[in-house]
Amino acid sequence: MTKVTVAKGDGIGPEIMDATLKIILAAGAKIEIEEIEVGEKVYLAGNTAGIARESWDVIRRNKIFLKAPITTPQGGGYKSLNVTTRKFLGLYSNVRPCMSMHPFVKTKHPEMDIVIIRENEEDLYAGIEHQQTDEVTQCLKLISRPGCEKIVRYAFEYAKQYGRKKVTCFTKDNIMKQTDGLFHKVFDEIAAEYPEIQNEHWIIDIGAAKMADTPESFDVIVMPNLYGDILSDVAAQIAGSVGLAGSANIGEQCAMFEAIHGSAPRRAGQNMANPSGLLQGAILMLNHIGQTEVAEKVQNAWLKTIEDGVHTYDIFKEGTSKQKVGTSEFAEAVIANLGGKPGILKPVSYAKGSALKLPKYQRKAPSKKELVGVDIFVHHTGSSPDNLAKIMQQIEEVCEVKLTMITNRGIKVWPEGFEETFCTDHWRCRFKPADGHILDKILISQILYQADNLKIDTIKTENLYDFDGKPCYALGQGQ
Ligand code: NAD
Repeated sequence: MTKVTVAKGDGIGPEIMDATLKIILAAGAKIEIEEIEVGEKVYLAGNTAGIARESWDVIRRNKIFLKAPITTPQGGGYKSLNVTTRKFLGLYSNVRPCMSMHPFVKTKHPEMDIVIIRENEEDLYAGIEHQQTDEVTQCLKLISRPGCEKIVRYAFEYAKQYGRKKVTCFTKDNIMKQTDGLFHKVFDEIAAEYPEIQNEHWIIDIGAAKMADTPESFDVIVMPNLYGDILSDVAAQIAGSVGLAGSANIGEQCAMFEAIHGSAPRRAGQNMANPSGLLQGAILMLNHIGQTEVAEKVQNAWLKTIEDGVHTYDIFKEGTSKQKVGTSEFAEAVIANLGGKPGILKPVSYAKGSALKLPKYQRKAPSKKELVGVDIFVHHTGSSPDNLAKIMQQIEEVCEVKLTMITNRGIKVWPEGFEETFCTDHWRCRFKPADGHILDKILISQILYQADNLKIDTIKTENLYDFDGKPCYALGQGQ
């Protein structure tokens, strides 16, 4: 018996959760339910997180969380409970299977059967944003080695467990050589540990185009957070409907399972909503807690129900569908099909066994790290790159450094910039130690002090490092 925290959520949440629980319990799921309240009521009672402290205790104690969609009230100040839950509980892996059910649910991609595995915690979603000048804002993209290793290993272990043949990686490492470059590098390293599984890497733009055009040429796709957020919705939609997809959010200790759609408030309380998305989430949960036989039984009964043409309004189509049903009737139809299998759609067969068990991340020995320069970012208006260079060069002698480059939004504008390049008020001045000298933190503070004397508004610094003798910072574009 596994204890599961359940939140029935808002809008259509309670109806689809009741239907889902009824189906999986009828199939023999060995779960004990502990219910908590999250969402709209909690938000409107003045808790901006949408969840009470005691509910966190329940979630952390039980470790497995099945969550119906919730309504985030309009207006500022309310934090998304999904994002908070993922981060607080370290749910680093978002797993979203997207499979078409041709010819029973309309799709242009009858052969599609892919699983998107999205890194769930870092990338641009670290939420570290600043306005730095009148004209320029920034968002930090953080990609870590532990983050990459965990998600990539999860993708390969998932492929192994579920008999998938290929893992594809999407990044934009031709542009972001440090961040996406690390993701790609780790992918190559870990792929080598799984010779029985094919692997490939695509640049995200052409990869995404190919996925939207011929999704049947992919199997498991692993990618950083932002790309995964966007492409997992594209994949669910082109498979047939976002209303049919569920997702798992997996961490080292806890896991959360849900539908990918929202609370559809306009459909609430009318016994109309399709419980399939949440049911798919519950099937992922059953697999995760090792109840694979129950998961298989429910999935095959659900496929048979879809194939029988017993459809809720959202996928009902005259001609293909046979019977339009409400939420509870759909659940009854799935229950009646338990033990059965689809005849045309491919029945599933999950490997017997337990949840994916991944080794804990092993911290690597530190590299040799050497400070080799500094980028000083400045807020500056009203003069040309050459003039700014003249001002900043006044720092060179006293600090024993050399101004090597100025960029604006990443493009080199000094030396030898183009007058056509549009410049904002946000500049990066790169200093390297003068010949025969070394740079240290005290010298960097000296540079800032001198800049201040010159009435230059410094907004931040970024240290330039070599790791094990290799430069680990980007050149200026055009440098
Ligand atoms: P939505 O997914 O709730 O609805 C989009 C459309 O799909 C609507 O037409 C709706 O009627 C339909 N739909 C969705 N699920 C359905 C189902 N199971 N059966 C039949 N039809 C279904 O998206 P929205 O309208 O943008 O958002 C509504 C609320 O849900 C918002 O408050 C939003 O913040 C919240 N939301 C929550 C989650 C979550 O908790 N994971 C995710 C997305 C949105």
